[in-house]
Amino acid sequence: MRRLCLSGGAQNKMAFRLIARLVFRALTYHMRNNEYEGDMATEIKTKLTCLTCGTVNAFPASRATEGPKCSSCGDPLASGKVAEVDLATLEKAARADGLPLVADLWAPWCGPCRAMAPEFAAAATQLKGRARFVKINTDEHPDAAIRYSIRGIPALLLFDQGRERNRHAGVMRTAQLTGWIEQNIS
Ligand SMILES: [Zn+2]
Repeated sequence: MRRLCLSGGAQNKMAFRLIARLVFRALTYHMRNNEYEGDMATEIKTKLTCLTCGTVNAFPASRATEGPKCSSCGDPLASGKVAEVDLATLEKAARADGLPLVADLWAPWCGPCRAMAPEFAAAATQLKGRARFVKINTDEHPDAAIRYSIRGIPALLLFDQGRERNRHAGVMRTAQLTGWIEQNIS
């Protein structure tokens, strides 16, 4: 009787283990399957920092050409216009953005900088959706000139995929500028 009881207990234990194993397998399968489905549903995302309010927006890369808007302030994220930014926004956009970023460091008293402005704006329009353009006034934001070790203005900085790809000192005409950008972005 005693042996039977024991063997009955052992059998129960084995049955319990088997059930536990099956439940565990079912759970892990379910989890893996959900993860897999999750991966399938997640498109490649791209990030764009709003140049108006500084919010970093993430959205499917396929929507990047559809005129995406900032989830926080509603401004267009790739308007084809030059945005005036401060150092914090410039750094965030340079680090996180899925589109190349061109920055013009300038000052109002600098003649060549003023000559550069319409060329820069024209390049921004031409490369709408392919690169974004920002200006930073080094009189108002001297920290930007220090941060990027700028010795003369206008200074153009080109960022792509989280890194500074190239820089240029002095005025560039629109065609020269767009050519320089195309050469330095992937
Ligand atoms: Zn915004």
